[in-house]
Amino acid sequence: MDDVIIIGGSFAGLAAALQLGRARRKVTVLDTGLPRNRFAGHSHGLLGHDHKPPLDILAEARQQLARYPTVKLVNARADSISGTIDNFSVLTGDGESLGARRLILSYGVADQMPNVPGFAESWGTSIVPCPYCDGFEVAGQHWGLVWSGPPSHNYVRLYHDWTDTLTVFADGHDIPPDIRADLARRNIPVVDGRITEIARHGGHNATVKLDTGPNASVDILFAHPCNKPSASLHESLGLATVNTPLGIALKVDERRETSTPGIYAAGDLANALMASVTTAISHGATAGISAQQSMLV
Ligand SMILES: Cc1cc2nc3c(=O)[nH]c(=O)nc-3n(C[C@H](O)[C@H](O)[C@H](O)COP(=O)(O)OP(=O)(O)OC[C@H]3O[C@@H](n4cnc5c(N)ncnc54)[C@H](O)[C@@H]3O)c2cc1C
Repeated sequence: MDDVIIIGGSFAGLAAALQLGRARRKVTVLDTGLPRNRFAGHSHGLLGHDHKPPLDILAEARQQLARYPTVKLVNARADSISGTIDNFSVLTGDGESLGARRLILSYGVADQMPNVPGFAESWGTSIVPCPYCDGFEVAGQHWGLVWSGPPSHNYVRLYHDWTDTLTVFADGHDIPPDIRADLARRNIPVVDGRITEIARHGGHNATVKLDTGPNASVDILFAHPCNKPSASLHESLGLATVNTPLGIALKVDERRETSTPGIYAAGDLANALMASVTTAISHGATAGISAQQSMLV
């Protein structure tokens, strides 16, 4: 039996494995190799790894983990979980049954692409979610924002630190008159109508096609589609969740323990606020250390 099974071996899961491996705990990491930022050419904002392809950062992390003889990285999906603290079982997609005293869930979230031709194909290049991740490279250029409700107003204020040229695409949303007045005061045009297609032109540039016409071109488009956990294992376990503006997150305490003793969660799956590689790594390391310290005799 392992001390810990980690489900999801990306930034959060590997950070947990590193702490556990250094504490000489026996760990299996199950991973299906689909990190959320795999669509992006470069990852930004992680100290020491800025502007590197995300898959390169993960490959280097896996290489470094090879030093630790008690850490096993397995390319497999976790399909189901049963048991309680000190005696959990995980069934993999390959039909293997694994046992562990603690679990760390770090299987991330999946962004739900709207049914708009070209949107999914542009995700991570012409359409991005986060100015901290991608804003610097397109600072001062013409940005577009796909409106997704009242929280979008905060993005308008945020984006001012990167550009003075912003166009809002209402995309069928009814933007209230007081917000429209504020946008007008900031010289931000609002394009009404629904987005029917996104046409990419290489680089970040995109043309936004609308049902009301005419089309509008921007240097980059920011959008915030809803997301959902990449697996439903937490549902079968009945773990408590919290609502976020874009979906749900697992509820955890400051040690990253979920509502079920012995099960910890880290990364975007349990991050109700700012999802990033840096926070995923920080929370993953905390989850690993918390799981290890919970087993001290
Ligand atoms: C387009 C885009 C660009 C981004 N750019 C940046 C950036 O520049 N800088 C930054 O800091 N952040 C960026 N982010 C955010 C960043 O991607 C996430 O915060 C980060 O990936 C979260 O790490 P994680 O380990 O929680 O989850 P993930 O990286 O999503 O990893 C989850 C892992 O779990 C695996 N998995 C899922 N289900 C199972 C299962 N049942 N069994 C086993 N394994 C499973 C998946 O295959 C995956 O490998 C970006 C996000 C997007 C969408």
